[in-house]
Amino acid sequence: MTLTQGNTIDFDSARLKLSESAAPVAIAAAEARQPSLRTVQDDLTRKLQTTLELDRILEIFFQELRGFLGLDCLEYRLEGEAVHHRIGQPGLHRCSYRMTHAGSFLGEVQFSRRKRFNEAQLMALETLLGNLLYPLRNALLYREAVFCAHSDSLTGVGNRLAMDRALEREVKLSIRNRTCLSLLVLDIDHFKQINDTHGHACGDAALKAVVNCISNCLRGVDDVFRMGGEEFVILLGDTGAREAHMVAERIRGAIAEMQFENNGLSIPITASIGVATRRLDEGSREVLDRCDKLMYAAKRSGRNRIATQ
Ligand code: GH3
Ligand code: MG
Ligand code: MG
Repeated sequence: MTLTQGNTIDFDSARLKLSESAAPVAIAAAEARQPSLRTVQDDLTRKLQTTLELDRILEIFFQELRGFLGLDCLEYRLEGEAVHHRIGQPGLHRCSYRMTHAGSFLGEVQFSRRKRFNEAQLMALETLLGNLLYPLRNALLYREAVFCAHSDSLTGVGNRLAMDRALEREVKLSIRNRTCLSLLVLDIDHFKQINDTHGHACGDAALKAVVNCISNCLRGVDDVFRMGGEEFVILLGDTGAREAHMVAERIRGAIAEMQFENNGLSIPITASIGVATRRLDEGSREVLDRCDKLMYAAKRSGRNRIATQ
């Protein structure tokens, strides 16, 4: 199928049209001083359709309700997901609503203002929350889909796509700020033997244990990604060659000393690590390829080793 103008949607121009068509409503509202609940609802519904981003959805909702109901603040919380957004400055009088849909909890929305809410305002608020329900649910589903697209379901760390993006970002940062960027490529030694001897489930548990071990050796700002199979990449922003070598050595030692057991049987695990610090003429692809080759050099030199440029 070829794409034609007729069957593609340009979201930016769609947004533009929406804001243009909203303009007469805004003028009418300003003239009438107070728009009707129906007008606010229609406006809100149109605007909430323009995005799937949670923070934009909340911002649009707050801005649309702010003038109509004299709100000072909106807070949104979804504790289990560690999501917390606050727009505006909290006032003394509050009301909060738990949003649910088909038995799923979609978070808690709290409104506050300086003046007490009256009955009519609370009723209007509840009506307008009805307009938020589906956009909120869609934004949460989108958020989850984006998260899943970037994470490895077995170990919970970032996947190859997430690594590619993070590495691009780190390379740009290191060029702009003239800082060092180092990376490690780590591959578990003779991992196939673990699978073959103890089973695939044991191999899976070993992968999780290695990720845990690597994470315990890193600073909060460093990131570990699973490239595929039993290979991992660790990004060390603002880190020079000497420091990167020390981190690699710490990880190598911790994995070799890790007490990994399966059915009461202790299984030794080791890993080989390539360490590279970005050279001035290297982009993300070049430094990653070089680091990968260094990891293979570490394998050739006997495994459970580190190879540096
Ligand atoms: P080397 O020391 O040369 O790296 O040898 P190796 O055995 O670690 O490497 P090889 O590439 O021969 O084997 C990797 C194995 O990893 C083969 C594959 O079945 C296994 N593997 C890949 N992904 C997973 C996974 O998600 N779970 C489990 N249990 N095994 C996996
Ligand atoms: Mg391996
Ligand atoms: Mg491998």
